[in-house]
Amino acid sequence: MAKLTILEFPDPRLRRKAVAVELVDDKIRTLIDDLLGTMYAAPGIGLAATQVDVHLRVLVADISEDKLAPLALINPEILSRDGVEITEEGCLSVPGVYEKVERAEHITLRALDRDGNNIEMEANGLLAVCIQHECDHLEGKLFVDYLSELKRQRIRTRLQKARRLDIDRPHKAPAI
Ligand code: ZN
Repeated sequence: MAKLTILEFPDPRLRRKAVAVELVDDKIRTLIDDLLGTMYAAPGIGLAATQVDVHLRVLVADISEDKLAPLALINPEILSRDGVEITEEGCLSVPGVYEKVERAEHITLRALDRDGNNIEMEANGLLAVCIQHECDHLEGKLFVDYLSELKRQRIRTRLQKARRLDIDRPHKAPAI
């Protein structure tokens, strides 16, 4: 399992829209394993291929305590959204920044699994938040886009300064 480099805001490559996977083959399964390894090492609870500069519609997540419940979704499509959940979100591509974001509390979705089978599933709470956050990544959208322009500008300045001074910005909570 290779550990991939995670792109960081405001890298323009995070704005690319990912394209659908046409064939779920070993190349895609290797990508999934690398995404999981990179996510666990970060550590994070979700990661989209966009974040490692691979612009295919693939995401992984694992919100379990023991990190033994990996979920991989290919070409995910959210079919319905219900309720409201406001969570303090962090993102592996926006290190050290946590802000409240409003998402649907309950979603249903359709995707392909790592064997290329069609799956339909529902997700609630943190998993629903995580999947919505990762689906946004595949559209080139970041959680900071839900914040005010002023806040986003402050975050951009803070991250650029930290990078310039080579200050590590640790994730104080699981990021997605
Ligand atoms: Zn993220």
